Amino acid sequence: MVQSKLRKRSAPKGNNLKSREILPISPTPPLPYSPTSLLGANLTQLTEWVQQRGQPAYRGRQLYQWIYQQGARSIGEISVFPKQWREAQADVPIGRSALHHHSVAPDDTIKYLLRLADGQIIETVGIPTEKRLTVCVSSQVGCPMACDFCATGKGGFTRNLARHEIIDQVLTVQEDFKRRVSHIVFMGMGEPLLNVENVVGAIKSLNEDVGIGQRSITLSTVGIRDRIRQLAQYQLQVTLAVSLHASNQTLRESMIPTAKNYPLKAMLAECREYVELTGRRVTFEYILLAGVNDLPEHAEELAAQVKGFQSHVNLIPYNPIQEADYQRPTTKRIQAFVAALKKRNIAVSVRYSRGLEADAACGQLRQSKVKS
Ligand code: SAH
Repeated sequence: MVQSKLRKRSAPKGNNLKSREILPISPTPPLPYSPTSLLGANLTQLTEWVQQRGQPAYRGRQLYQWIYQQGARSIGEISVFPKQWREAQADVPIGRSALHHHSVAPDDTIKYLLRLADGQIIETVGIPTEKRLTVCVSSQVGCPMACDFCATGKGGFTRNLARHEIIDQVLTVQEDFKRRVSHIVFMGMGEPLLNVENVVGAIKSLNEDVGIGQRSITLSTVGIRDRIRQLAQYQLQVTLAVSLHASNQTLRESMIPTAKNYPLKAMLAECREYVELTGRRVTFEYILLAGVNDLPEHAEELAAQVKGFQSHVNLIPYNPIQEADYQRPTTKRIQAFVAALKKRNIAVSVRYSRGLEADAACGQLRQSKVKS
C-alpha cells in the first residue's frame, strides 16, 4: 500500500507572527466527502462502503488497490470480487472519465481531451522528460477570470470540477504513459482557488492514495482575495505559484480584469502570510508580453515588489493565442529581463512551455476548440 506522505508542519520559522495582524491558524478544515463516485474515497471509506454491502473488510483494500493502482474503470472488471456481487454493483460509478481525443506534440508532450460524465470536455497535458512525468491538470471547466492573454479565459466558465474529476486526470496520464507520474501542476483550465475544497481534497488523495509527494505538486493561482490565506490553513506542503504578471497595479488591471477587486498590495501581503504560515517559498509567475511588461523599468519595479520575500520568479514568455494580439519578446529582451532581476539578487528562471505544437502549452487550453 502507498504510505501517506502527509506530514504535519511545525510552527513556521521566524517569530514575527505575533507582531502582525493575521488570522490565527485554525485546525485543518474538515473536507467532507460526499461520494458521487468511488474515486476520491480513502481506504477507510472504501472499507466501510464494501462492508455496508455485505463484504468483509479485506475487500475494501482490494477495491482501493484496483481503483488507485490498477486503474479499474468499473466494479465489473474487478475480477477478485465475487461475480454476483460485482453484477449487483454494476451501476456504481468509479468516476473515471472517457478519453475523447489526444494529440502528441513533436516534443512528446501529449494533450488529452477528457469527456466527463455530464458530457463536458476538459483538457489535461502530460509532459515527459527523462526523469519526470508532469501532469498539467484542470480545476474547472473553463475559467471565469478572463485574463486577456489566456485562451481558457476567453472561453468563459462552465463549472467547478469535482474531486474525482481532478484525480482522474492524473491516473489517465499515468496509465497512458505506463509510467508513474512524478509531478503535478494545477496550470490547466480554471482557477484552483475558486474550487478550494475539491482541489485540496484531490491533492490529499493524490498524495495519500496515488502516492505523489506534496512537494511535487504546484498550485497556480491568479489570486483570489482571502483564499491564499485559506489555503495556508490546510498546512499542505505544495508549492504555491502566484500569477503576478505585472509590476504594478495599473498594469496588472490592464491584463487581468479581476485584479481590480484585489489590489496587488493586498495580494502580496497574503503571499507573505502564506510564507510565514507554511514555511514554503512562493513562486511568482510573470508572463512576458513584448512592449507591455518586459521593459527594464518593469524588471526594476518587479524586483522591488518581491524583495525580501522567500520567493522565486518564473518568467513565462507569452504563448501566442488567436484571440489576443500580444507578442512574445525576443530572446535578447528576455535575457535582459533575467539579467536585470539577477542584478538585484532575485531568484529567477525562464519557463519555455512545451507542447506548443499540440496547443498544449500554458494558457492555450480552450474547451470550445475541441467540441467538433
Ligand atoms: N488560473 C491559474 C492557473 C491556470 S494558467 C493561474 O492563473 O495561475 C497557468 C499559467 O499559465 C498562469 O501563470 C497563466 O497566467 C499562464 N498563461 C496563461 N495564458 C498564457 C499564455 N498565452 N502564454 C503563457 N502563459 C500563459
